[in-house]
Amino acid sequence: MKTINDFNFENKKALIRVDFNVPLDEEFNITDNTRILAAKPTILKILEDGGSAILMSHLGRPKGVQDEFSLNHIVAAVSDAIGVQVKFVNNCIGDDVEKAAAELQNGEVLLLENLRFHAEEKAGDVDFAEKLSKLGDIYVNDAFGSAHRAHASTTIVAQFFPENKCFGLLLAQEIESLNKVLNDNEKPVTAVIGGAKVSSKIDVIENIMDKVDNIIIGGGMAYTFIKVKGGKIGDSIVEDDKLQVAQDILNLAKQKNTRIHLPIDVIAADAFSESANTQIFPANDIPDGWQGLDAGPKTNVGFSFVIADSKTILWNGPVGVFEMEKFAKGTIELGNAIAEATADGAFSLVGGGDSVAAVKQFGLADKMSYISTGGGAMLEMLEGKSLPGIEAILK
Ligand code: AMP
Repeated sequence: MKTINDFNFENKKALIRVDFNVPLDEEFNITDNTRILAAKPTILKILEDGGSAILMSHLGRPKGVQDEFSLNHIVAAVSDAIGVQVKFVNNCIGDDVEKAAAELQNGEVLLLENLRFHAEEKAGDVDFAEKLSKLGDIYVNDAFGSAHRAHASTTIVAQFFPENKCFGLLLAQEIESLNKVLNDNEKPVTAVIGGAKVSSKIDVIENIMDKVDNIIIGGGMAYTFIKVKGGKIGDSIVEDDKLQVAQDILNLAKQKNTRIHLPIDVIAADAFSESANTQIFPANDIPDGWQGLDAGPKTNVGFSFVIADSKTILWNGPVGVFEMEKFAKGTIELGNAIAEATADGAFSLVGGGDSVAAVKQFGLADKMSYISTGGGAMLEMLEGKSLPGIEAILK
């Protein structure tokens, strides 16, 4: 796996695909600059080598050129974050852009306008990719959040740099972290899979089944499993068309000796609302009119035991409706248990769903070993898919 550490960038222009698709408020202030900070080590290494950096990214989902999606809005914030005054050019291909790139001096950074102002970006257009390729000497992909897309700047452009292409430090770290969890892991390995629906996590569960010792299934998706096991789930969220899939997963787990842990009690509510009445019920005996919205106290203790005993932990998806304070306790306790296990030497990776938001919301982010920056991309990797942006560099 070639990374920027395998290249010396002295007098070289690095064409870097970053993921600066950051959330902006109405005044175009960045509300979460995690993705910019995540790209910083890659940019700095290139500058410190004595090279220059040309940054390309998308922002949002513009239809053609739309000022609200201009990357010009984030130039000051990027400059602040990396500590270098960033130059900006109001297109990403064409004569003006080529001129700006050619004039860029070692130690300087140039940010290109939103790639998605051109429909060719998402179409993976080869001519457009070739125009981008003219701007730099070495292509660096550091955009993990877009690595599952075969777009011009994330995948197609790599073919114009047969020898001079590599991963940035962020993308390399994402790949290594997942590898550390699923392949090169220390046992026991526990995966916590939560979230609303089992349908969105079936491929993940099937792919990790062989690689982990325990799978904790929490959140809304647990009720489909509890129902197929004969439990009474009241009005809890369920996917009746996935009951057989859930049964197949339980059978497969038995066959492979993977332990599946389901909630044993739940905090149920008489409405999907912060102001609902709540009551604790056994997870397999929830009366009609009540829906399970969080893990119950016995479940939290049980899940925490499993976590405490684990040397490697993957966390994907909350175990309750954590957005509502009343139903956040299970997710907080689980997060605390993972934080403690991590402090005791376990490796923990959080990614691929709302668990990243939960970890940030509850102030646990710096207590995890690694937090993935790419939701969809991490989910596809967990499903065992190869990502086009990664393949294009390895090829
Ligand atoms: P995901 O994006 O797959 O990680 O799913 C996250 C969503 O699942 C969050 O918005 C949670 O509120 C939701 N969720 C978790 N537990 C439940 C539950 N018991 N009932 C309904 N939704 C849930």
